[in-house]
Amino acid sequence: MTDLIIIGAGPGGYKAALHAARQGLKVTVFEEEHVGGTCLNAGCIPTKTYVHSATFEEATERQQQVVEALRGGIETLLAHPNITLIREKGVFSDTHTVSGVTAKNIIVATGSSAKRMGQGLSSTELLQLRTLPKRLCIIGAGVIGMEFASVFRKFGSEVTVIEYLKECLPMMDSDIAKRLRKLMEKRGIDFHMGASVKSIDGQQVVFEQKGKELTAEADAILVATGRKPNVAADYAKAGFEYDERKGITVDEHFETTVKGIYAIGDVNGRQMLAHAAEMQALHVVNRIVGIEDSIRFDVMPAAIFTEPEAALVGPSEDRLKEQGVPFECHKSFYRANGKALAMNEAEGMVKLCCEPGEGKLLSAHIFGAHAADLVQEVTAYITLGATLQQLRETVHIHPTLSEVLIGVN
Ligand SMILES: Cc1cc2nc3c(=O)[nH]c(=O)nc-3n(C[C@H](O)[C@H](O)[C@H](O)COP(=O)(O)OP(=O)(O)OC[C@H]3O[C@@H](n4cnc5c(N)ncnc54)[C@H](O)[C@@H]3O)c2cc1C
Repeated sequence: MTDLIIIGAGPGGYKAALHAARQGLKVTVFEEEHVGGTCLNAGCIPTKTYVHSATFEEATERQQQVVEALRGGIETLLAHPNITLIREKGVFSDTHTVSGVTAKNIIVATGSSAKRMGQGLSSTELLQLRTLPKRLCIIGAGVIGMEFASVFRKFGSEVTVIEYLKECLPMMDSDIAKRLRKLMEKRGIDFHMGASVKSIDGQQVVFEQKGKELTAEADAILVATGRKPNVAADYAKAGFEYDERKGITVDEHFETTVKGIYAIGDVNGRQMLAHAAEMQALHVVNRIVGIEDSIRFDVMPAAIFTEPEAALVGPSEDRLKEQGVPFECHKSFYRANGKALAMNEAEGMVKLCCEPGEGKLLSAHIFGAHAADLVQEVTAYITLGATLQQLRETVHIHPTLSEVLIGVN
């Protein structure tokens, strides 16, 4: 007997399976490729292995070792007596049946795929290259585009980035995004902002910028213009609503329009992040077994693993202005922080927004060394409803980068 069917064993699916199994549910998981999903096999982990390798050759060699070690770990965890892992595609035949298995509750965690453009490579295909491209052209200056630009420049490629918008990283504070882009320009990355790609023809990208037609020649072309949820034709048999572009429709508890069927992670198109998928997994299983939780899905930190890093939690200053929210903005710079100078990491900036009078913290947007760790600290404060004053009154170890938070003006 199966209590819960899970389709997909990425971070959403395998976290849901483990949590449910530990709560005593009998779980059947369908996975048509490798356990770990995009995150482990072609996303977070391989790209961060690149960031932490000195050369392209080292990166490609280490990538496989790191991925295989982690995959083995997940397979061991999924060998839990309450979990049956079926290594095939899960296909709905009716509301409660997937590939011959029936259960009251079903979680769809099928992830997302890269949007394609002409003959350009997806990030997964770029990670499979075994020769460093001399010239790399990247279409899109979002998170994936910026991370690949940063790391391939470090390896020695000549990198050109073509972006339709005026600035990179649209969810990031525009001042911080601009500073990060300028820093990457200084390192030799050629950015074409406000430019639209007309065609990809062999090794040539034709694009238009300020009314002029231009071309970029490249040995590899990465298309990083976003990802689309993996929705499948058999969902019609399950009967829930979905949209090819936006993914599966879910409510605030990630339940679809059919009771007992949930959709978590990239496939619901909400927040395409591994940790978002994992937290949604915990919440859904908690709902199924009747555990109350207080996970704050409105407080979702995110990081961009360029060199240096950038990270954020909460709305940018620009967004707060647009929303008409009363707030004040406080800044500080890495160059005034002893540890940053000692680390030779003087480039960086922190922007904290809070309610007026050093009140409740609303957001943190940071670029500089270890920005993700600093944002993680502010995430805890925001989750607990703390104020900037409380952050300032918290003792911070000296000398650490975290002192840059209490040093805001
Ligand atoms: C290059 C890159 C870098 C990234 N870096 C980061 C990062 O640093 N931090 C971060 O938080 N996020 C990052 N992400 C995003 C992150 O990888 C995704 O948000 C996360 O993997 C989503 O998890 P998921 O469980 O929803 O789906 P996935 O990880 O995509 O897993 C879905 C799984 O379902 C399986 N599947 C699909 N359909 C079926 C079916 N019918 N039957 C059986 N199995 C099926 C697939 O094979 C896959 O294994 C990155 C993504 C990319 C592409």
